[in-house]
Amino acid sequence: MKKKVLVLAVILTLAVTAVGCKTGNVKNNGKSVEISTSPAQIFVEPVSGMPEEFVLGADVSTLIAEEKSGVKYYDENGNEQDLLLTLAQNGINTIRIRVWNDPYDAEGNGYGGGNNDVETAVLIGKRAAQYGLSVMVDFHYSDFWADPSKQMVPKAWKDMSAEEKHAAAYEFTYDSLKRMLDEGVDVTMVQIGNEITTGLSGETKWSAMSHILTGGSEAVRALSAEYEKDISIVVHFTNPEDAGKYERYAQMLSKFEIDYDVFASSYYPYWHGTMENLTKVLKEIAEKYGKKVMVAEVSYAYTMEDGDGFGNTISEDAVCELYYPVTVQGQADCVRDVVQAVVDTGDAGIGVIYWEPAWIPVPGDSDVPREMLWQEHGSGWASVYAAEYDPEDAGVYYGGSAWDNQAMFDFEGHPLASLSVFRFLRTGADTDVRIDDVQDAVLKVRLDDEIRLPETVCAVFNNGETKEIPVTWDAGADLPDSSVLGEYVLCGMAEYEGMKQEVTCTVKIVEKNYVENPGFEDGDLSMWILNNIDNKTTELFVSEKSVDAVEGGKSMHFYSTDEVNFTMEQNITGLNPGTYKYSMAMHGGDAGNQEIEIYAIADGKEYTESVTITRWQEIQRPVIEKITTTDGSITIGVRVKCNPGAWGNLDEFLLAPVQ
Ligand code: CA
Repeated sequence: MKKKVLVLAVILTLAVTAVGCKTGNVKNNGKSVEISTSPAQIFVEPVSGMPEEFVLGADVSTLIAEEKSGVKYYDENGNEQDLLLTLAQNGINTIRIRVWNDPYDAEGNGYGGGNNDVETAVLIGKRAAQYGLSVMVDFHYSDFWADPSKQMVPKAWKDMSAEEKHAAAYEFTYDSLKRMLDEGVDVTMVQIGNEITTGLSGETKWSAMSHILTGGSEAVRALSAEYEKDISIVVHFTNPEDAGKYERYAQMLSKFEIDYDVFASSYYPYWHGTMENLTKVLKEIAEKYGKKVMVAEVSYAYTMEDGDGFGNTISEDAVCELYYPVTVQGQADCVRDVVQAVVDTGDAGIGVIYWEPAWIPVPGDSDVPREMLWQEHGSGWASVYAAEYDPEDAGVYYGGSAWDNQAMFDFEGHPLASLSVFRFLRTGADTDVRIDDVQDAVLKVRLDDEIRLPETVCAVFNNGETKEIPVTWDAGADLPDSSVLGEYVLCGMAEYEGMKQEVTCTVKIVEKNYVENPGFEDGDLSMWILNNIDNKTTELFVSEKSVDAVEGGKSMHFYSTDEVNFTMEQNITGLNPGTYKYSMAMHGGDAGNQEIEIYAIADGKEYTESVTITRWQEIQRPVIEKITTTDGSITIGVRVKCNPGAWGNLDEFLLAPVQ
């Protein structure tokens, strides 16, 4: 989305009123921390039906590496303070810590990402215990990052069979947890594997993965009995939006008799479908298999700025659906809604954990650049030393934090108001209404048409309301030349009741286009003639997924379980006699046997140009350069014929005069 600069001088003059905050205690291990009572700076709608013991967690696995790199964290008054205390004061009750078996090369250089070995987990866990915080241990059963893209086997387990990994997983889990428990870490939950959607410890078959899962599970149960401590076993997957996937994983866990308590999901709202779907999928697992459910990882961006020069996962260029404003309030709203989505699964819904809210930029200057700190202390997502273990990913893309814009601390370590969402979830909170975000304007102008800048822009307020508010553009009379194709960015100031915010208008001078509703953005489709031949194409409709559109938010989607076979055309009349060019844009895949062409018919002559689709978002742009009409009418269209299972999206139809 966009970067937003609130005009602080104006905001600060507004009176701050304290509403809806209650005092409370986090109690565990006999330790307690006073919950902060400072007034809300965000709106929070209370979560209905949230149980008292609900897990509100933060994964701060990079904490030690960050501190070694010189990062400092502050309390809400600007005083330096232990990050873990600040989290507890804001309603966090559980700390999640990942554990890698051996994240070091032969010379002892750390792979990065926090260098999270068992020792690091003990350090963080002991400190957490001081503030009454429980710990969820997240075993990756790998020497470095394990996620759907990779599940690499630990070096020490390289030559083991799946059966041998059973004993290895038992031993590693048992020894690691015993050490933590003996050091006073309040371990309440243990993940046996991290995001094991595509495999675990180098194994991809469930028959093999089950040996490792069983080893981990047995170790947790043994320690639970030994220490007379209730420790939940958690399995963790991704992609709840893939229909049927979670049911299949739960079936496999059942088939291989894996002993576990909690079925956990990652839920990144910009990747993982709707929250309604999340609730539905988790509820089904909970009810059918009698398990608890939770979200083990969630996060959202509060800014599109990058704090450390290492590109962020969610940036302006990321192809994803952003459902909330990229602001502090938007981040808080997202967390609140995910908690509600888990609570809505019923009694089975036990918690939500925010992923890496404190992985902020390390200091760095010309003497000691950031790169040096990342390498030396492992505070970046991967160091150069990880290349030997993970040459294809870390070996190429090592660097800093790709998560600093999704943290709940600013780049200097001060807590953002969004962190306080955890302490307001039960009570709700109000603050002064102010502009939270103003949507930048985009104006498309056809060649030689008059440029009329918008008089208003859409403002989103921190209470969720939206309103069109007046804007003044800096350009004045100095507008771009609409006889030249191009893109121009104009700056302006939006203003509402004394609140001001900078905003931009991108003016795109584009070719004249005689196609009506060329990108399916309008609801009226009457100008398009759609012929689903023999009704074989099972899906043929306007998709409102902007990630599938080439431009704008909509596109014509096709998919078929039978063969794909359709044509779509538009008759365009009233043109000046002359020469025109026709083009469109499309992408799609799984089309092994395809016959796709665009066509134009004018003066009784047909022109065609064939096109081949390859994969998602690899945009094809077939063009017919010269179409001559003497009677002022041209029919443009597309014929699509593919094997069953093929899919794609059509967008951006253009019929423009040729000079
Ligand atoms: Ca970054």
